[in-house]
Amino acid sequence: MSEYIIRIIPEQEKVYFHKALSQDMINCISREIKADSISCEEYDEISFIDCGGNLEEISCPYCHEIIPFDIWGDAMEKAAQSGFTDLTFRTLCCGNECSLNELEYNFPCGFARCMIEIVNPDRELSEPLIQQLEELSENKLRIIQAHY
Ligand SMILES: [Zn+2]
Repeated sequence: MSEYIIRIIPEQEKVYFHKALSQDMINCISREIKADSISCEEYDEISFIDCGGNLEEISCPYCHEIIPFDIWGDAMEKAAQSGFTDLTFRTLCCGNECSLNELEYNFPCGFARCMIEIVNPDRELSEPLIQQLEELSENKLRIIQAHY
């Protein structure tokens, strides 16, 4: 059985949702979406939140040049040594500095200390619902869709 998981993380990797807020967000989601489970995850350190087998391509946010997976992998390894607190990345294509969290991941991925996970939802998150969740959490959110 394949699984479809929607992961909701704050756009800024250092942002942390406390328990009560996560619960409010889960309640808000479950009013609109039925799913096998809707839960929150928390990590002691910033973690890479992936899109499962969906990650096809990573590109530069400035010039949109493709970033080879091995270059990205080396940068990830280096960043992991700092517990992903330092995500600084200099692009080879155009020599600009950015955060690994700002690269264009296709499909979206990101870094976070917390996330809300919806397993096998019966529908997509609607725009109004995303807006509602952003207002509730007072944060811009990133939606990650993973297929396994
Ligand atoms: Zn570039």
